[in-house]
Amino acid sequence: MNEKEYMDMAEKYMIHAYNRFPVVIERGEGVHVYDTQGKQYLDFAAGIAVCSLGHHHKEYTEALKEQMDLIMHTSNLYYNVPAVEAAKKLVQATGLEKCFFTNSGAEAIEGAFKTAKRYAYDKNGAGEYEVIAMKQSFHGRTMGALALTGNPHYQEPFGPMLAGIRYAEFNNLESVKALVNDKTCAVILEVVQGEGGIYPATEEFVRGIRALCDERDILMICDEIQCGMGRTGTMFAYQQYGVLPDIVACAKALGCGIPVGAFVTGKKCCGSLVPGDHGTTYGGNPLAAAAVNKVFEIYEKEHLLEHVCQTGAYFEQELDKIAAESDHVTARRGKGLMQGLVLNVPVRDVIDRARERGLLVISAGENVLRMVPPLIVTKKDIDEMIDILRKSL
Ligand SMILES: *Cc1c(COP(=O)(O)O)cnc(C)c1O
Repeated sequence: MNEKEYMDMAEKYMIHAYNRFPVVIERGEGVHVYDTQGKQYLDFAAGIAVCSLGHHHKEYTEALKEQMDLIMHTSNLYYNVPAVEAAKKLVQATGLEKCFFTNSGAEAIEGAFKTAKRYAYDKNGAGEYEVIAMKQSFHGRTMGALALTGNPHYQEPFGPMLAGIRYAEFNNLESVKALVNDKTCAVILEVVQGEGGIYPATEEFVRGIRALCDERDILMICDEIQCGMGRTGTMFAYQQYGVLPDIVACAKALGCGIPVGAFVTGKKCCGSLVPGDHGTTYGGNPLAAAAVNKVFEIYEKEHLLEHVCQTGAYFEQELDKIAAESDHVTARRGKGLMQGLVLNVPVRDVIDRARERGLLVISAGENVLRMVPPLIVTKKDIDEMIDILRKSL
C-alpha cells in the first residue's frame, strides 16, 4: 500500500478525532523520523514532548527487549521489581515521598485530583471539594482532567462539568487569592503551560501559590507532564522556582515512548489514598516501569540536564534572532527545550511549509508555533532547524 492508501484507510476505520498531518511515519533514528516513502524529517515535535531520548535509542530499546523476555505484566495484586526501582527513582527525583504509576497523563491528573479530595475529606468530611485551576491550562481529556482544563472550547460539548472547579488567571496571584475560600482543597498549575501556548510562570506566581497553599492548608499540584523530565533544564520545572509541590503529575517523557504516567505525593498527602480508594490494571507494569528506570539511568549517564541547559540557551538565542528579524514573529516564549514563537500568520501554513522541507514542528494555543525536540538535540540540529524555519516563515 502507498502513503495515500494508508491515510484513506485510517480515515475509514479510525474515529476522526484528529486532523492529522499527511505523513505516515514508519521509523525513527535519533532526532529523525522517516515516512513510508523513506523521506527524512528532523523531529522537533518528539511525539509531543515524549521522545526525549530521540528515537530508537539503543540502550533503551535493549532494556525493553530484555524485560519482555522476563515478564511484561503482573497486575498490581503483586509486587514487581522494575516498578519498585522506578518508584524509588521518581520519588528521589521529585523530592517527594510516594508515587503511583498510571498509563497516561490524564490518569496521573485524575489520581492527583482524587488524592487532593481524599486529603480534604480526611480533614473535615466532604466539605472541601473546590479546586482552583488556571485559564488556558491543559490537563487531559478524561472528565476530571477536562474539568480542570481552563479552555471552554474543549469542555462545551461535554457538559455539565464536574462541580467545584474555579479558574484563575495564570501569572496573576491576586486572581488565585480571590477564589480561595473554605471549600478549596487544591490549586493546580503547569509551571510552564504547554498546550495553552507555552507560557512560563513567573517566580512570584509560583512562590505566591506555595505560600498561599501553606497558609490555608491547601494542596499545590504541579502538572509536569509536558514541562517535566528535564525539558526546561532541571528534572522538573518547579525546581527552578525554589518550591516543592504537594503533588506532581508526570507522563509524556517519563517513559520516552512507552505509555506511562505517575502522580507523586509529598509528606502531607502521601498517606491519603488507602487500599480500595484507587487502582489500575496496567499502571506500573514491568515493561512500563523498565522504561522509566532506563530513562532515569540514561538521563544521568548522558548528562542530559546539563546538555539541555546548554542547548536550550543556544536555542533561545537563535529563536530570538528569528523573532527580531521576521515580520511574522511577534514574540518568543519558553524555557530550555520547550519553546514557542508567537506568529501573526496562520501557524498551520508555517508547519506545512516546514514539513515539506523536512522539519516537524507543531502548534500550541491559537497562534503559537511549538518546538519540543528530543533532549538529545545538538547545536547542529538546532542550526538546521533554524535554517528551515527561516525559509518556512
Ligand atoms: C499531554 C498533557 C496531559 C495529558 O496527557 P495524556 O497522556 O495525553 O493523557 C496533561 N497535562 C499536560 C500539561 C500535558 O501536556
